[in-house]
Amino acid sequence: MKILVLGGGGREHALVWKLKESPLVEKIWCAPGNGGIAAEAECVAIDAGDVSAIVAFAEKVLPDLTIVGPELPLVNGLTDAFRQRNWAIVGPSQQAAQLEGSKIFSKEFLARHHIPTAKMYGTYDSSADAYKALNSVAWPVVIKADGLCAGKGVFLAPDFAAAKDFVERVMEKNELGPGGKRILLEETLEGEELSFIILTDGARYAPLVPTRDHKRVFDGNQGPNTGGMGAYSTDELLPDELRETIRLTIVEPTLRGLAEDGIRYQGFLYIGLMLTNSGPKVLEFNCRLGDPETQAILARLDFELAEVLSDVAAGRLDPSKLRWKPGASACVVLTSRGYPGKFENGKRIDLTTVGHITGVTVLHAGTRLVGETAVTNGGRVLGVTAAAATLDDALAAVYGAASRIRFEGMHYRKDIGVHPTRLKAAGD
Ligand code: AMP
Repeated sequence: MKILVLGGGGREHALVWKLKESPLVEKIWCAPGNGGIAAEAECVAIDAGDVSAIVAFAEKVLPDLTIVGPELPLVNGLTDAFRQRNWAIVGPSQQAAQLEGSKIFSKEFLARHHIPTAKMYGTYDSSADAYKALNSVAWPVVIKADGLCAGKGVFLAPDFAAAKDFVERVMEKNELGPGGKRILLEETLEGEELSFIILTDGARYAPLVPTRDHKRVFDGNQGPNTGGMGAYSTDELLPDELRETIRLTIVEPTLRGLAEDGIRYQGFLYIGLMLTNSGPKVLEFNCRLGDPETQAILARLDFELAEVLSDVAAGRLDPSKLRWKPGASACVVLTSRGYPGKFENGKRIDLTTVGHITGVTVLHAGTRLVGETAVTNGGRVLGVTAAAATLDDALAAVYGAASRIRFEGMHYRKDIGVHPTRLKAAGD
């Protein structure tokens, strides 16, 4: 098989890493790829969100299968363009990708199909209406920009002044671009978050192993939100009873709802959940794999990824083919100084001291090659990933490797995989 992977972050490096292990895979292209992917696939300098350029490239090289990593190509209609040409691709249609591309669409979908989620106060397309509505909400309130805002569109406002400031920046100053034209207000949910990701061909589905990510930049969940500072996976995250509740109250109603709405959803569906006292509730849908959850999930993969993804593209997923290594995995993200704010690129990365540590893989995210040398090229630079028999072993392996990597300004959290209750118990 010849496979085209779209995207250039840690998630895509993880996909390429696992595809590359397969004897079925003869060639991989990655657009645009990164400094680590370049060692395993042919990187092509095309922006993953540029539908016509990707179609033109695929026309030239005719991949047997295309796998979409990030959301932008989906929201821009790339999969529709491929399917019109009968080209095999993994990823939902533009219509289905609105589950991620429009928070209002997704909220209305959840309400229509009676799927548990935070109560919505309303949707607003003018700041004046939003300010008025803020007079009758409970605090803190969650404000969500409707469209894609590169992870900056959700704000948990503690009080009126903070809420007004956010609405003003989003709706009047357009700081987040067109994604902020409309907003919604919803109640704040309390609990622990859990990422539940399924792979579906529109009819059948298979859950991936459960993961939890860590969004804040500093230890103890301090500092601003990021794209994700690390993730881990153990089966303990999802006891059988909870798995069953999620299946019955969330996953299956979602798939039924999509079918009732005439949307055939094919690809990965990421369901962000809050485990509240009154049961799991949907925080968000993403129409793709999470990053860095993918790194932790794929570290536990024990099946032929290329074959299963071809099956999905052909509408014949066999869920029994998805097998997972028992135990646990972890991914710790190494970032540039200043991230998620301003940071500098171009710092030389020294990986020579890592050597080979059994079970550890250093996946690249924001890197590029200058000659033979990898340099930083993004906020999230590397994802040190390992699977092991226990979570403690996986964490020891990733932290052992991370401490041997050097680049100027390197930062990482030291508490990935530490359960919040364990943190509290430790007096942190
Ligand atoms: P979203 O993109 O909608 O998942 O929002 C990003 C993050 O904001 C989530 O992962 C949660 O941490 C938080 N969040 C979103 N909605 C809520 C809510 N209703 N209550 C509490 N936290 C929320």
